[in-house]
Amino acid sequence: MFGKILIANRGEIACRIIRTAHRLGVRTATVYSDADSGALHAELADEAIRIGGSAAHESYLSIERVIESAKRTGADAIHPGYGFLSENAEFAEAVEAAGLVFIGPQPMAIRAMGRKDAAKALMESAGVPIVPGYHGDDQDPDLLAGKASEIGFPVLIKPRAGGGGKGMRRVERAEELPSALEAAKREAKAAFGDDAMLIEKYLLRPRHIEVQVFGDRHGNVVHLFERDCSLQRRHQKVIEEAPAPGMTAEMRRAMGDAAVRAARAIDYRGAGTVEFIADVSKGLWPDRFFFMEMNTRLQVEHPVTEAITGVDLVEWQLRVAAGEPLPKKQSELKIDGWAFEARIYAEDAARGFLPATGVIDEMRFPKDGVRIDAGVRTGDRISAHYDPLIAKMIVHGANRSDALGVLTRALQASHIAGTVSNIGFLTKLSRQEEFVSGHPDTGLIERNLETLTAIPAAEDTVIALAAVLSLEGKSHGRDPWDTLGHWQLWGEMQRKVTLEHAGSLASLRVVARGFGMFAVHDGRRVIPIRFVSRHGDRLQVETDGRQVSVEVERGTHRLCLRLDGNSHLFALPDPLDGTASEAEVGDRLIAPMPGFVKIVRTSEGAAVSKGAPLIVMEAMKMELTLTAARDAIVESVHASEGQQVSEGAVLVTLKAGEA
Ligand code: ADP
Ligand code: ADP
Ligand code: MG
Repeated sequence: MFGKILIANRGEIACRIIRTAHRLGVRTATVYSDADSGALHAELADEAIRIGGSAAHESYLSIERVIESAKRTGADAIHPGYGFLSENAEFAEAVEAAGLVFIGPQPMAIRAMGRKDAAKALMESAGVPIVPGYHGDDQDPDLLAGKASEIGFPVLIKPRAGGGGKGMRRVERAEELPSALEAAKREAKAAFGDDAMLIEKYLLRPRHIEVQVFGDRHGNVVHLFERDCSLQRRHQKVIEEAPAPGMTAEMRRAMGDAAVRAARAIDYRGAGTVEFIADVSKGLWPDRFFFMEMNTRLQVEHPVTEAITGVDLVEWQLRVAAGEPLPKKQSELKIDGWAFEARIYAEDAARGFLPATGVIDEMRFPKDGVRIDAGVRTGDRISAHYDPLIAKMIVHGANRSDALGVLTRALQASHIAGTVSNIGFLTKLSRQEEFVSGHPDTGLIERNLETLTAIPAAEDTVIALAAVLSLEGKSHGRDPWDTLGHWQLWGEMQRKVTLEHAGSLASLRVVARGFGMFAVHDGRRVIPIRFVSRHGDRLQVETDGRQVSVEVERGTHRLCLRLDGNSHLFALPDPLDGTASEAEVGDRLIAPMPGFVKIVRTSEGAAVSKGAPLIVMEAMKMELTLTAARDAIVESVHASEGQQVSEGAVLVTLKAGEA
């Protein structure tokens, strides 16, 4: 076994690898970027090396710096985790050239599977069924169009260099192909530096079922059964489980054999995942699954396999890389019960899953019988530089319904404050009927998006509270008690407030009644608001004889109130005079979060119609298209391509006019 390893990663996966290494008596070193200088992974490792700037290419993606750090710490081997350099054959080669061990497969195997086109061709020749489609080199648009029609719509175009669901587009009709290709190529170029595309038949009721494989240096290859990762949003996994519901012994054997054949075809060493797509329009059948791709690394969702097999996959990775044979034979591997994993992200489901940033003020998860793999702790910042994953929740039970019950309760009992999270969405998803009955498919989330992301419209008391809070700190610094105190000194005072909420404007009158006490007139009734206590951004408020705990988050032009697990967003048109009209509210295109302006699709004087895309922003690895709120004329454009903008920045202003 190694004396010391360097982990070239961050977040939960770095922490998870450190845990196993320490259990095995292996010392650990890790690297951190500027944004991660106080990060958990750097604290847990025996030593941590500052590797460079916050941008991934200046740190976690720098082959040179990672190898330099490994040498500096005297590590014998490098674990790449997932993402970053994990599937970079050049990196694996450079590690070996530096006299270190790469904890992963041989560079040749990474290369063979790194491109989906080459991988499909290879698998086809190894007798593994592949998704029907085109995976040639010729990228002539006319040729691609011809191939798409031959395959038959709908088709899926995906970058041959792809990963993490990025750059993929489902195309329904021939007319949509050119624009979809353009967008997909742009995204692929930015994410992978390569914009060649594959075209595949789009399967209509598919399930994503993948098989965990493991090989060693002695010619042994086993599989550790399947995982079902069909619950996806935009081709990214949301909740995963193992084993796959409805799996028959025959199908499991067929998939396991195909996965092992795939691994043997490239003399595979270490942990890998063979991803299949199964057409379940007529149930699960051994002749209805196809190879999609092979990921030559540890997968995000590997813990569900650990939960049902009792194997520590990171331990196996370390042993195999150190030259030991696989600890178990195929016949010694068994499935015990059922497991689920839910990915907890800092994203706002109700706002199109917008990734969020922020400092985690509080993070509470149930402890009993739940595994939490987190890369952050209370007080840490979710920055815009990396994926907004907060934690993974993994549960195990004797059977599917027990395990799912544990998941739902654990999600309900979890609480994250300081940043938005998808916990509410995950909780609803864990109760979704088709999923509960064991019939997930990759379209389930999309079909049920509205129900899964719906938040009840704010009650009038919440709107009233927002009205009071919108006045705080405007003229007297940020402390509401201060402001409220001043109000008190001035005696009974009132102000008019206009708020935008859920697409409409509310006009309210706020009257100060005493210290921390207000009466809000919303045109229908008078709502009493009394502030009881305050801890940071969390307020205890009494209204209509009921006490509620509210978390307040402020942006330049917005106010977000979180209570009872729901986020309610309010736009503050003009906090000082409260005379904003409907038009003024929709007339400013505002950056919803910090990010880069990628494309400016409009110019001064242009006539735009409602819904027209005006600005494409990139924030936290996601592309956001900001559209016109109504038919109008562009008055001015305040953003230019490549510009970094902060949250609340006005990017475009519109004025009245016909499109
Ligand atoms: P797959 O490649 O099959 O999607 P994983 O789910 O294991 O496999 O994710 C692979 C990589 O994609 C990981 O490196 C992860 O960091 C990245 N990734 C996954 N989800 C997201 C996301 N929502 N945003 C950005 N990157 C993501
Ligand atoms: P990535 O490398 O980005 O993970 P994959 O090829 O693994 O790309 O595809 C990601 C997801 O997209 C799959 O899990 C599946 O849900 C969906 N998908 C991929 N290919 C098809 C297809 N041919 N038909 C329908 N859905 C597909
Ligand atoms: Mg994949």
